[in-house]
Amino acid sequence: MSASKLQTSIEFLKSVGPSRAEILSKELDIKTWSDLLYHFPFRYVDKTIIGSISDAITSGEPTQFLAKVTNITLTKGRFKKRLNVTLFDGKSTLKAVWFQGAKWVVEKLNEGEQYLFYGTARKTKSGLSFAHPEFEIYNPNSTKKAGLEPVYSSTELLSKLGLDSKFKRRLVVQILKKISPNDLVDPLGPYYSDKYNLIPHGSALHKVHFPKNMEELAQAKHRLIFEDLFFLQLSILFNQSTRKKRLKGLVFKNVGDVFMKYFKEKIPFELTKAQKRVVKEIRQDLGTGVQMNRLLQGDVGSGKTMVALLAMLLSIDNNYQACMMAPTEILAQQHFKAVTEEMKGMNVNVGFLSGSVKGKKRKETLKLLKEGVIHILIGTHALIEDWVVFKQLGIAIIDEQHRFGVAQRAALWGKSDTLAPHILVMTATPIPRTLALTAYGDLDVSVIDELPPGRKPITTRHLYDSKRVEINNFLELEISKGRQVYIVFPLIEESATLDLRNLEESYERLLQRFPRPNFQISIVHGKMKPSDKESEMQRFVRGETQIMLATTVIEVGVNVPNASVMVIENAERFGLSQLHQLRGRVGRGADKAYCILVSKYNLSVSGKKRLATMVNTQDGFEIAEVDLELRGPGNIEGTQQSGVVNMKMAHIVRDQELLIHARAHVKQVLSEDPSLRLPKNEPLMNHLKTLKHFNRNWGRIS
Ligand code: ADP
Ligand code: MG
Repeated sequence: MSASKLQTSIEFLKSVGPSRAEILSKELDIKTWSDLLYHFPFRYVDKTIIGSISDAITSGEPTQFLAKVTNITLTKGRFKKRLNVTLFDGKSTLKAVWFQGAKWVVEKLNEGEQYLFYGTARKTKSGLSFAHPEFEIYNPNSTKKAGLEPVYSSTELLSKLGLDSKFKRRLVVQILKKISPNDLVDPLGPYYSDKYNLIPHGSALHKVHFPKNMEELAQAKHRLIFEDLFFLQLSILFNQSTRKKRLKGLVFKNVGDVFMKYFKEKIPFELTKAQKRVVKEIRQDLGTGVQMNRLLQGDVGSGKTMVALLAMLLSIDNNYQACMMAPTEILAQQHFKAVTEEMKGMNVNVGFLSGSVKGKKRKETLKLLKEGVIHILIGTHALIEDWVVFKQLGIAIIDEQHRFGVAQRAALWGKSDTLAPHILVMTATPIPRTLALTAYGDLDVSVIDELPPGRKPITTRHLYDSKRVEINNFLELEISKGRQVYIVFPLIEESATLDLRNLEESYERLLQRFPRPNFQISIVHGKMKPSDKESEMQRFVRGETQIMLATTVIEVGVNVPNASVMVIENAERFGLSQLHQLRGRVGRGADKAYCILVSKYNLSVSGKKRLATMVNTQDGFEIAEVDLELRGPGNIEGTQQSGVVNMKMAHIVRDQELLIHARAHVKQVLSEDPSLRLPKNEPLMNHLKTLKHFNRNWGRIS
């Protein structure tokens, strides 16, 4: 194959050269012919359709029309020149304007002559605006056969330098002329192209740049999207089936005394249906002899901890230890206390380890752990340090996965010198199913989709800063009913001092509005010593303070059922999943709960949408969908390693149906030939090996 030809630098194309090549590489990461071919148009102009000025005005959509230039005037504003050009198409007039590049435009346009214009007429407060349209001299012959014309994305710098869409179009034409169909290797190979009824890879690449009509474009896109999704799934599932073969797991045969005693005598409530189902799924995993790697998704407050505890008890019943890792000291402490409490009278020893456990205490804990006296170890990421040695670790639970990455999971695998321990990862940030199939493709997924009984809906309001007085009055009313409230501020990493000042100013203001001794306020922020944080938290937990003023340290896991109000300041600065997490801190007691989102008046489109979503729904999955839509899959935690970001044309939300199809096809391919050794699968294996994320994951496990 001559794939190497596609790796030729664009530098040697006509009208490129070293300096332009460097700019294209910097701005758009386009270095080779191949990069340019896979830099797809983001839209197309149907040059066969010529409308009118009135079409442009009424539709508000990009429109092509033929018009005469009747007047050109250059006005000098305070800072910039502005070019006004009046257009007339025989029926209506429209004023086009240029704020930039006026000089260049003036040179090209002549009064009294006709041109083809293409642009969008927007209705604005100050009237109609037709800014920076494209234009060219009208030639009836070329227009007729043009078909759809590709438009490529650009950057400000590139447009300024004239390396615009038209320029790229000319480069693509050059490349397509220089390559033959044989230069383009079909990643799917002939067998599957035929079987799945796809147009050839090479012709899809041609047509996606220069389609004759919409139908051709649709076929080309379909082929390229399918390829993306197919290989995304293949890289995940191939690893998965290989892992299943290689990584034998510990077998937990017995459901023994510890589990049964706890379940029969001690468990404080009946499990929800969803919890029961998940416990069953886990039990099945643990009995198969294959290492479990399971993701447990469940909304805030859905009761994941109990599921984790039961899984740990199974481990103990089979003479293995268990550990549970939480992202913060406070949360780890809370788990430790809760589990210790549950294990009273059970003959199960629970240990605690974090960065703050030092000296003699640490030594002692490590010794007991190594001897197997400690059955359950709970702690922070300190647990994965090399000096933490178990006698025989059977299962590791990771709480709140979004704070931990794949590397941490892998480190836990290494904690056992025989077989890798089973891993259960828990997250309260639900991710849409399609993303779970991809981002966490190497994990099996369980979902707790039901909250324990008795939860009350949380009333959520969005208010502007100007409502401060009303907000405080409301807080006072709730406090007078014996309730507690959280007030949370965002954390700006870059400016910890500024954060602190914000927090301290609000503290002063709050002290005046809620004076001692009638009111008590706790304050917690990232700059405090862990022990101080902990004691402030505890004052709030014990109900000695009514207001908890904090930066986002309280984000995960903290449980204070008596708290009924969550005020989130500068709410527009939080991401959706964070807002959802924070809101989940209230509504855990019997009373009605409230969440108040406070923001400034001017909000970005995305900010507005985030706050409106919070007001409209409490469903974690719905919120996750909006989050995905707003941020794109590349920015969702956990997706970086998955290869989602490497897709050239597919979009996993928009193309979910095709994703599910592709996954089914891939499963069939692998069930017939798990190691891809058959001749018809050779192209698949060859292409897999060229994918970066595939090699990375592959390296991790082999
Ligand atoms: P999360 O999934 O957010 O970690 P937790 O495990 O902290 O949720 O559970 C939240 C609260 O719900 C805890 O106080 C827990 O004791 C309680 N809980 C969990 N499961 C049930 C159940 N089946 N019935 C009643 N309460 C439950
Ligand atoms: Mg939790």
